[in-house]
Amino acid sequence: MSGPALRNVQHHIAQQSKYARLNAFISLTDAAKLQASAPAAEDASKPLHGRLIAVKDNIATADLPTTAASKILSNYTSPYPSTVATLLTFAGALVAGKTNLDEFGMGSHSRAPFAGPVLSPYTRNGETLSPGGSSGGSAVAVTTGQCWAALGTDTGGSVRLPAAYTGTVGFKPSYGRVSRWGVLDYANSLDTVGTLTSTVGDAKGLYEALDQYDVRDPTSLPGAVRERITKAVMARDEKRKDRPLRVGVPFEYNITSLSSVVKRAWTSLLQRLQAAGHEIVPVSLPSTRLALSAYYVLAPAEASSNLAKYDGVRYGARVSGPDALPKEDLVLFAKTRGEGFGPEVRRRILLGAYTLSSEAIDNYFIQAQKVRRLVQKDFDNVFGLAHPLLDEVQAAGEDTVDVLIAPTAPTLPPTIKEVEQLTPVESYMNDVFTVPASLAGLPAVSVPVKLADAAGKVQNADEVGGEVTTTGMQVIAQFGDDDLVLEVAELIEKMQSGTYNM
Ligand code: GLN
Repeated sequence: MSGPALRNVQHHIAQQSKYARLNAFISLTDAAKLQASAPAAEDASKPLHGRLIAVKDNIATADLPTTAASKILSNYTSPYPSTVATLLTFAGALVAGKTNLDEFGMGSHSRAPFAGPVLSPYTRNGETLSPGGSSGGSAVAVTTGQCWAALGTDTGGSVRLPAAYTGTVGFKPSYGRVSRWGVLDYANSLDTVGTLTSTVGDAKGLYEALDQYDVRDPTSLPGAVRERITKAVMARDEKRKDRPLRVGVPFEYNITSLSSVVKRAWTSLLQRLQAAGHEIVPVSLPSTRLALSAYYVLAPAEASSNLAKYDGVRYGARVSGPDALPKEDLVLFAKTRGEGFGPEVRRRILLGAYTLSSEAIDNYFIQAQKVRRLVQKDFDNVFGLAHPLLDEVQAAGEDTVDVLIAPTAPTLPPTIKEVEQLTPVESYMNDVFTVPASLAGLPAVSVPVKLADAAGKVQNADEVGGEVTTTGMQVIAQFGDDDLVLEVAELIEKMQSGTYNM
């Protein structure tokens, strides 16, 4: 590696020391090793040649430990890399290190007790803000230039929320596009690998390297399905090219807890899109109000099952000594699991075990699955593109839309002090705008938009901090319409920088 690629890597390494106090990384690739890695000359043609990319620590890499920010995996190094890590290497990228997260991805502020909290470089009245979560380490690493881009995982918003809080671009592709092989399961019917980048263009480049069928992931979309999606999208694009974009604004997202600053940013974006000739269409997604509760039944249920293997026998650090239970020899792993998991993970395991139990399953788990189906139907009713995996052919009515645009989070990032006061349920509320797309497996991207009163402030790329000047707006589209969400996100990005021609 030489020239600009090497200089970029050196710049990121310098930023890593400068911002070490933010605790974005759990482990870092040795700086000397990074600089010494000199791919052959022809490698310069690779799409991500010499790009330094951080990987969330619930995604397995070959060289560094994979801990999911959990004590139970504190000594774990995977015997094989995840498919996404392998694809990064194929594309010429270098792994910067493993980023900090909420334990096993469960949370919204990146505060794993074992790995310690991630801090945002941004402040409000001098108070440090939450970086969002659970991919907060990845978002902070990107916003402070400690890497070129980062991988995160998004189960109910964990890529989009930290992106919204840190002024970065967070993209969650359609479920099944990017391989989950080697990604530690949290709630596997929702878990999606996503990207955190400084620009939408970078997200496109990174996504292109990852968007592939993987025979080792049973939920990966096979070639025939990908072709079917491409055909459907192309047929729609053919019709769309002669008309303006139809942007849906979901009525139900206008909730009372939506802060006035975020609401203003949302309306002003919609006004600008309208002024640029695009159509704004009010739409209704009536099941939205149930989505958050359904998510917090389904995700813990899957988690309780997925995390059963961390028992100190199959996986996980074994805590020696007798279990603190009357019959010591009956439960081999109670102590290991009791000490190995932090309080939030324990809460979710217990909640999930309860909602799956014979006396509760009908009232909780089954009901939540029904709500999930209703949320999916709501989306199918508003998008002009029929769901490419469903056989029902939908008549694209006059009032259907191409994309939905809504805030990523109802408020600006809270201060760390405010986060410390939140009850678990209050902190779950943060995910109200992100979980619907997760329940339906839809592609969604959070793109920063400027706050009205911060229009003039310019950030210096090397000195990141001070007041937040942006909030995240989410672009959501039909399953498989990933390219369109990125296209619209890019349009919004251009409008911010004033390079957009009407
Ligand atoms: N905050 C949500 C949760 O705790 C989402 C997490 C995620 O997407 N990994 O479940």
